[in-house]
Amino acid sequence: MDRINTFRLKGIKAALFSSEINMHYLSGYTGEGCLLILPESAHIITDFRYIEQAERQSPACKVEQTGKDASRNQIVKNLLSECGICELSVETNVLTHDEFLALEKALEGVTLVSIPRVTEEMREVKCEEEIECIKKAGEISCKAFDDLLKYIQPGMTEKEVCAYLDYRMRVYGSEGNAFSTIVASGVNGSLPHAVPSDKVIEKGELVTFDFGAKIGGYCSDMTRTIAIGEISDELRAIYDAVLEAQLAALAYIGPGKSCFEADKIARDLLEEKYPGAFGHSLGHGVGLFIHESPSLSFRSEKTLSKGHVVTVEPGVYIPGVGGCRIEDTVIITEDGFINIITTPKQLIVV
Ligand code: ZN
Ligand code: ZN
Repeated sequence: MDRINTFRLKGIKAALFSSEINMHYLSGYTGEGCLLILPESAHIITDFRYIEQAERQSPACKVEQTGKDASRNQIVKNLLSECGICELSVETNVLTHDEFLALEKALEGVTLVSIPRVTEEMREVKCEEEIECIKKAGEISCKAFDDLLKYIQPGMTEKEVCAYLDYRMRVYGSEGNAFSTIVASGVNGSLPHAVPSDKVIEKGELVTFDFGAKIGGYCSDMTRTIAIGEISDELRAIYDAVLEAQLAALAYIGPGKSCFEADKIARDLLEEKYPGAFGHSLGHGVGLFIHESPSLSFRSEKTLSKGHVVTVEPGVYIPGVGGCRIEDTVIITEDGFINIITTPKQLIVV
Protein backbone atom coordinates (compact mmCIF):
# COMPACT_ATOMS: atom_id res chain seq x y z
CA MET A 1 0.00 0.00 0.00
CA ASP A 2 2.96 2.32 0.61
CA ARG A 3 3.77 2.47 -3.06
CA ILE A 4 0.12 3.11 -3.93
CA ASN A 5 0.19 6.05 -1.48
CA THR A 6 3.42 7.34 -3.02
CA PHE A 7 1.76 7.10 -6.40
CA ARG A 8 -1.28 9.05 -5.11
CA LEU A 9 1.04 11.83 -3.93
CA LYS A 10 2.00 12.40 -7.58
CA GLY A 11 -1.37 14.10 -7.96
CA ILE A 12 -3.19 11.55 -10.14
CA LYS A 13 -6.78 11.16 -8.95
CA ALA A 14 -7.78 7.88 -10.54
CA ALA A 15 -5.60 5.43 -12.46
CA LEU A 16 -6.13 2.06 -14.06
CA PHE A 17 -3.10 -0.23 -14.45
CA SER A 18 -3.18 -3.26 -16.68
CA SER A 19 0.53 -3.99 -17.15
CA GLU A 20 1.72 -6.95 -15.10
CA ILE A 21 4.90 -5.23 -13.98
CA ASN A 22 3.38 -1.96 -12.74
CA MET A 23 0.54 -3.86 -11.02
CA HIS A 24 3.10 -6.08 -9.30
CA TYR A 25 5.25 -3.12 -8.28
CA LEU A 26 2.39 -1.06 -6.86
CA SER A 27 0.23 -3.73 -5.25
CA GLY A 28 2.28 -6.94 -4.95
CA TYR A 29 -0.26 -8.82 -7.09
CA THR A 30 1.22 -10.91 -9.92
CA GLY A 31 -1.84 -12.42 -11.63
CA GLU A 32 -4.03 -11.31 -14.51
CA GLY A 33 -6.52 -8.46 -14.32
CA CYS A 34 -6.14 -4.78 -13.52
CA LEU A 35 -5.50 -2.43 -10.63
CA LEU A 36 -7.70 0.61 -10.10
CA ILE A 37 -6.34 3.30 -7.80
CA LEU A 38 -8.92 5.76 -6.46
CA PRO A 39 -8.42 8.61 -3.95
CA GLU A 40 -9.57 6.55 -0.95
CA SER A 41 -9.27 2.93 -2.07
CA ALA A 42 -7.48 0.56 -4.41
CA HIS A 43 -9.09 -2.40 -6.22
CA ILE A 44 -7.79 -5.46 -8.02
CA ILE A 45 -10.32 -6.56 -10.62
CA THR A 46 -9.87 -10.14 -11.78
CA ASP A 47 -11.67 -13.41 -12.43
CA PHE A 48 -12.36 -16.49 -10.32
CA ARG A 49 -8.94 -18.07 -11.00
CA TYR A 50 -7.01 -15.30 -9.24
CA ILE A 51 -9.28 -14.18 -6.38
CA GLU A 52 -7.48 -16.02 -3.58
CA GLN A 53 -4.05 -15.12 -4.98
CA ALA A 54 -4.99 -11.42 -5.13
CA GLU A 55 -6.27 -11.48 -1.56
CA ARG A 56 -3.07 -13.13 -0.34
CA GLN A 57 -0.64 -10.98 -2.29
CA SER A 58 -2.36 -7.67 -1.84
CA PRO A 59 -4.30 -7.52 1.44
CA ALA A 60 -4.51 -3.72 1.30
CA CYS A 61 -6.51 -3.79 -1.95
CA LYS A 62 -10.16 -4.73 -2.33
CA VAL A 63 -10.57 -7.65 -4.70
CA GLU A 64 -13.43 -7.42 -7.20
CA GLN A 65 -14.50 -10.53 -9.11
CA THR A 66 -15.61 -10.33 -12.72
CA GLY A 67 -18.41 -12.64 -13.81
CA LYS A 68 -21.36 -13.20 -16.09
CA ASP A 69 -23.06 -9.95 -15.12
CA ALA A 70 -20.03 -7.83 -14.30
CA SER A 71 -17.32 -7.31 -16.90
CA ARG A 72 -14.05 -5.68 -15.92
CA ASN A 73 -15.02 -2.40 -17.59
CA GLN A 74 -18.45 -2.45 -15.94
CA ILE A 75 -16.86 -2.81 -12.50
CA VAL A 76 -14.48 0.08 -13.26
CA LYS A 77 -17.45 2.19 -14.35
CA ASN A 78 -19.39 1.49 -11.13
CA LEU A 79 -16.40 2.22 -8.89
CA LEU A 80 -15.69 5.49 -10.68
CA SER A 81 -19.27 6.69 -10.48
CA GLU A 82 -19.44 5.88 -6.75
CA CYS A 83 -16.61 8.41 -6.23
CA GLY A 84 -17.83 10.89 -8.84
CA ILE A 85 -14.64 10.54 -10.92
CA CYS A 86 -14.83 11.85 -14.49
CA GLU A 87 -11.19 11.56 -15.56
CA LEU A 88 -9.27 8.28 -15.56
CA SER A 89 -5.55 7.83 -16.26
CA VAL A 90 -4.80 4.67 -18.20
CA GLU A 91 -1.67 2.96 -19.55
CA THR A 92 -2.04 4.04 -23.17
CA ASN A 93 1.36 2.46 -23.90
CA VAL A 94 0.05 -0.95 -22.81
CA LEU A 95 -3.63 -1.11 -23.85
CA THR A 96 -4.33 -2.28 -27.37
CA HIS A 97 -6.34 0.02 -29.61
CA ASP A 98 -9.34 -2.30 -29.26
CA GLU A 99 -9.09 -2.38 -25.47
CA PHE A 100 -8.88 1.40 -25.33
CA LEU A 101 -11.96 1.82 -27.54
CA ALA A 102 -13.93 -0.72 -25.47
CA LEU A 103 -13.01 1.07 -22.24
CA GLU A 104 -13.94 4.44 -23.72
CA LYS A 105 -17.28 3.06 -24.81
CA ALA A 106 -18.00 1.46 -21.42
CA LEU A 107 -17.02 4.57 -19.48
CA GLU A 108 -19.19 7.06 -21.31
CA GLY A 109 -18.77 10.52 -19.79
CA VAL A 110 -15.33 9.71 -18.35
CA THR A 111 -12.29 11.22 -20.08
CA LEU A 112 -9.39 8.82 -20.57
CA VAL A 113 -5.90 10.31 -20.35
CA SER A 114 -2.39 8.77 -20.40
CA ILE A 115 -0.77 7.97 -17.06
CA PRO A 116 2.42 10.03 -16.76
CA ARG A 117 5.50 7.77 -16.38
CA VAL A 118 5.60 8.24 -12.60
CA THR A 119 5.53 4.52 -11.78
CA GLU A 120 8.44 3.89 -14.12
CA GLU A 121 10.33 6.70 -12.35
CA MET A 122 9.49 5.24 -8.92
CA ARG A 123 10.81 1.88 -10.15
CA GLU A 124 14.23 3.37 -11.07
CA VAL A 125 15.42 3.61 -7.46
CA LYS A 126 15.37 0.22 -5.78
CA CYS A 127 14.73 -0.35 -2.06
CA GLU A 128 16.65 -2.87 0.08
CA GLU A 129 14.13 -5.62 -0.53
CA GLU A 130 14.33 -5.23 -4.30
CA ILE A 131 18.14 -5.11 -4.18
CA GLU A 132 18.22 -8.37 -2.21
CA CYS A 133 16.19 -10.10 -4.94
CA ILE A 134 18.46 -8.75 -7.70
CA LYS A 135 21.60 -9.82 -5.79
CA LYS A 136 20.20 -13.31 -5.33
CA ALA A 137 19.33 -13.54 -9.03
CA GLY A 138 22.89 -12.44 -9.90
CA GLU A 139 24.38 -15.04 -7.59
CA ILE A 140 22.30 -17.78 -9.23
CA SER A 141 23.36 -16.79 -12.74
CA CYS A 142 27.07 -16.82 -11.74
CA LYS A 143 26.74 -20.26 -10.12
CA ALA A 144 24.96 -21.67 -13.18
CA PHE A 145 27.68 -20.26 -15.42
CA ASP A 146 30.40 -21.96 -13.33
CA ASP A 147 28.59 -25.26 -13.91
CA LEU A 148 28.34 -24.54 -17.62
CA LEU A 149 32.12 -24.02 -17.86
CA LYS A 150 32.63 -27.58 -16.57
CA TYR A 151 29.99 -28.95 -18.97
CA ILE A 152 30.62 -27.26 -22.33
CA GLN A 153 32.60 -29.19 -24.97
CA PRO A 154 33.35 -28.55 -28.62
CA GLY A 155 30.82 -30.56 -30.65
CA MET A 156 27.80 -29.48 -28.58
CA THR A 157 25.19 -27.27 -30.21
CA GLU A 158 24.26 -23.77 -29.07
CA LYS A 159 20.80 -25.10 -28.14
CA GLU A 160 22.28 -27.86 -25.97
CA VAL A 161 24.47 -25.56 -23.89
CA CYS A 162 21.62 -23.03 -23.64
CA ALA A 163 19.31 -25.69 -22.21
CA TYR A 164 21.95 -26.71 -19.66
CA LEU A 165 22.53 -23.12 -18.51
CA ASP A 166 18.78 -22.48 -18.13
CA TYR A 167 18.37 -25.77 -16.27
CA ARG A 168 21.18 -24.98 -13.81
CA MET A 169 19.62 -21.58 -13.04
CA ARG A 170 16.32 -23.29 -12.24
CA VAL A 171 18.08 -25.83 -10.01
CA TYR A 172 19.60 -22.96 -8.02
CA GLY A 173 16.14 -21.45 -7.47
CA SER A 174 15.49 -19.10 -10.38
CA GLU A 175 11.75 -18.59 -11.04
CA GLY A 176 12.42 -18.47 -14.76
CA ASN A 177 14.61 -16.72 -17.26
CA ALA A 178 14.91 -12.94 -17.00
CA PHE A 179 14.78 -13.11 -20.84
CA SER A 180 15.51 -15.72 -23.51
CA THR A 181 19.12 -16.83 -23.10
CA ILE A 182 21.45 -15.80 -25.91
CA VAL A 183 24.18 -18.20 -27.05
CA ALA A 184 26.23 -17.03 -30.01
CA SER A 185 29.22 -19.04 -31.22
CA GLY A 186 31.77 -18.27 -33.91
CA VAL A 187 30.40 -16.11 -36.71
CA ASN A 188 27.01 -15.93 -34.93
CA GLY A 189 28.77 -13.72 -32.37
CA SER A 190 28.28 -10.72 -34.65
CA LEU A 191 24.52 -10.89 -33.90
CA PRO A 192 24.06 -9.03 -30.59
CA HIS A 193 20.77 -10.85 -29.92
CA ALA A 194 21.50 -14.22 -31.53
CA VAL A 195 18.95 -16.98 -30.94
CA PRO A 196 20.59 -20.30 -29.90
CA SER A 197 20.67 -22.54 -32.96
CA ASP A 198 21.64 -26.05 -34.03
CA LYS A 199 25.09 -24.74 -34.90
CA VAL A 200 27.85 -26.87 -33.42
CA ILE A 201 30.36 -25.08 -31.18
CA GLU A 202 33.86 -25.61 -32.51
CA LYS A 203 37.46 -25.23 -31.39
CA GLY A 204 38.94 -21.82 -32.08
CA GLU A 205 35.64 -19.98 -31.61
CA LEU A 206 34.47 -17.34 -29.18
CA VAL A 207 31.07 -18.07 -27.60
CA THR A 208 28.93 -15.32 -26.04
CA PHE A 209 26.37 -16.15 -23.35
CA ASP A 210 23.88 -13.44 -22.28
CA PHE A 211 21.38 -14.56 -19.65
CA GLY A 212 19.70 -13.82 -16.34
CA ALA A 213 17.81 -15.40 -13.46
CA LYS A 214 14.68 -14.13 -11.72
CA ILE A 215 13.87 -13.92 -8.01
CA GLY A 216 10.70 -12.34 -6.59
CA GLY A 217 10.04 -11.09 -10.13
CA TYR A 218 13.41 -9.27 -10.21
CA CYS A 219 15.96 -9.94 -12.96
CA SER A 220 19.72 -10.21 -13.20
CA ASP A 221 21.63 -9.74 -16.43
CA MET A 222 25.14 -10.92 -17.33
CA THR A 223 27.19 -11.67 -20.43
CA ARG A 224 30.44 -13.53 -20.72
CA THR A 225 32.34 -14.45 -23.87
CA ILE A 226 34.61 -17.48 -23.63
CA ALA A 227 37.13 -19.15 -25.95
CA ILE A 228 36.91 -22.75 -27.05
CA GLY A 229 40.57 -23.77 -27.15
CA GLU A 230 43.07 -21.55 -28.86
CA ILE A 231 41.67 -18.54 -30.76
CA SER A 232 43.13 -16.28 -33.46
CA ASP A 233 44.95 -13.04 -32.65
CA GLU A 234 42.10 -11.17 -34.34
CA LEU A 235 39.51 -12.60 -31.91
CA ARG A 236 41.83 -12.10 -28.95
CA ALA A 237 42.25 -8.43 -29.89
CA ILE A 238 38.46 -8.00 -30.02
CA TYR A 239 38.12 -9.53 -26.56
CA ASP A 240 40.85 -7.32 -25.08
CA ALA A 241 39.31 -4.17 -26.58
CA VAL A 242 35.84 -4.96 -25.18
CA LEU A 243 37.28 -5.76 -21.76
CA GLU A 244 39.28 -2.51 -21.73
CA ALA A 245 36.12 -0.54 -22.59
CA GLN A 246 34.07 -2.34 -19.94
CA LEU A 247 36.66 -1.73 -17.22
CA ALA A 248 37.03 1.93 -18.22
CA ALA A 249 33.26 2.48 -17.97
CA LEU A 250 33.15 0.69 -14.59
CA ALA A 251 36.03 2.86 -13.32
CA TYR A 252 33.89 5.93 -14.03
CA ILE A 253 30.51 4.78 -12.76
CA GLY A 254 29.10 5.84 -9.38
CA PRO A 255 26.55 8.15 -7.77
CA GLY A 256 26.40 11.59 -9.38
CA LYS A 257 27.97 10.32 -12.62
CA SER A 258 26.42 10.99 -16.03
CA CYS A 259 24.80 8.12 -17.94
CA PHE A 260 25.82 9.80 -21.20
CA GLU A 261 29.47 10.09 -20.13
CA ALA A 262 29.67 6.41 -19.05
CA ASP A 263 28.49 5.38 -22.52
CA LYS A 264 30.91 7.81 -24.18
CA ILE A 265 33.96 6.47 -22.32
CA ALA A 266 33.39 2.93 -23.62
CA ARG A 267 32.22 4.11 -27.04
CA ASP A 268 35.25 6.34 -27.73
CA LEU A 269 37.66 3.52 -26.90
CA LEU A 270 35.90 0.99 -29.17
CA GLU A 271 35.19 3.47 -31.96
CA GLU A 272 38.92 4.12 -32.31
CA LYS A 273 39.78 0.44 -32.86
CA TYR A 274 36.56 -0.90 -34.42
CA PRO A 275 34.61 1.98 -36.01
CA GLY A 276 30.88 1.31 -36.14
CA ALA A 277 31.18 -2.11 -34.45
CA PHE A 278 29.55 -1.10 -31.12
CA GLY A 279 26.05 -0.17 -32.22
CA HIS A 280 23.97 -0.45 -29.04
CA SER A 281 23.87 1.43 -25.75
CA LEU A 282 26.37 0.73 -22.98
CA GLY A 283 23.70 -0.39 -20.55
CA HIS A 284 20.18 -0.27 -19.15
CA GLY A 285 18.34 -0.31 -15.85
CA VAL A 286 17.32 -3.72 -14.47
CA GLY A 287 14.43 -4.51 -12.13
CA LEU A 288 11.09 -6.24 -12.56
CA PHE A 289 11.61 -5.66 -16.26
CA ILE A 290 14.88 -6.58 -17.95
CA HIS A 291 15.21 -3.27 -19.80
CA GLU A 292 14.12 -0.28 -17.79
CA SER A 293 15.21 3.23 -16.93
CA PRO A 294 17.85 4.66 -16.56
CA SER A 295 19.76 3.70 -19.68
CA LEU A 296 23.46 4.34 -20.19
CA SER A 297 23.32 5.70 -23.70
CA PHE A 298 24.32 8.54 -25.94
CA ARG A 299 20.73 9.80 -25.67
CA SER A 300 20.52 9.76 -21.86
CA GLU A 301 20.40 12.97 -19.84
CA LYS A 302 20.16 11.20 -16.48
CA THR A 303 22.60 11.06 -13.59
CA LEU A 304 23.24 7.87 -11.61
CA SER A 305 22.17 7.80 -7.98
CA LYS A 306 22.02 5.41 -5.02
CA GLY A 307 19.58 2.57 -5.64
CA HIS A 308 19.92 2.58 -9.44
CA VAL A 309 20.68 -0.87 -10.88
CA VAL A 310 22.29 -0.77 -14.32
CA THR A 311 24.18 -3.02 -16.69
CA VAL A 312 27.54 -2.19 -18.26
CA GLU A 313 27.83 -4.12 -21.51
CA PRO A 314 30.01 -2.91 -24.34
CA GLY A 315 30.44 -5.18 -27.35
CA VAL A 316 32.09 -5.48 -30.74
CA TYR A 317 30.29 -7.20 -33.64
CA ILE A 318 31.97 -7.90 -36.96
CA PRO A 319 29.93 -9.78 -39.59
CA GLY A 320 31.75 -12.81 -40.96
CA VAL A 321 34.26 -12.78 -38.08
CA GLY A 322 32.28 -12.92 -34.84
CA GLY A 323 31.83 -10.79 -31.78
CA CYS A 324 32.23 -10.29 -28.10
CA ARG A 325 30.25 -8.69 -25.27
CA ILE A 326 31.05 -8.50 -21.57
CA GLU A 327 28.25 -7.47 -19.20
CA ASP A 328 27.93 -6.92 -15.47
CA THR A 329 24.93 -5.69 -13.45
CA VAL A 330 25.87 -3.11 -10.82
CA ILE A 331 23.98 -1.57 -7.90
CA ILE A 332 24.84 2.09 -7.35
CA THR A 333 25.60 2.80 -3.68
CA GLU A 334 26.30 5.99 -1.71
CA ASP A 335 29.99 5.88 -2.55
CA GLY A 336 30.37 3.65 -5.58
CA PHE A 337 28.72 0.43 -6.68
CA ILE A 338 28.36 -3.26 -5.94
CA ASN A 339 28.98 -5.53 -8.92
CA ILE A 340 26.63 -8.51 -8.49
CA ILE A 341 28.30 -10.45 -11.30
CA THR A 342 31.36 -12.06 -9.77
CA THR A 343 32.41 -14.38 -12.64
CA PRO A 344 35.98 -13.45 -13.72
CA LYS A 345 36.48 -11.32 -16.80
CA GLN A 346 39.92 -12.33 -17.99
CA LEU A 347 39.36 -14.53 -21.05
CA ILE A 348 38.16 -17.96 -19.97
CA VAL A 349 39.46 -20.74 -22.22
CA VAL A 350 37.78 -24.14 -22.08
ZN1 ZN B 1 22.33 -9.18 -21.01
ZN1 ZN C 1 21.65 -6.25 -20.70
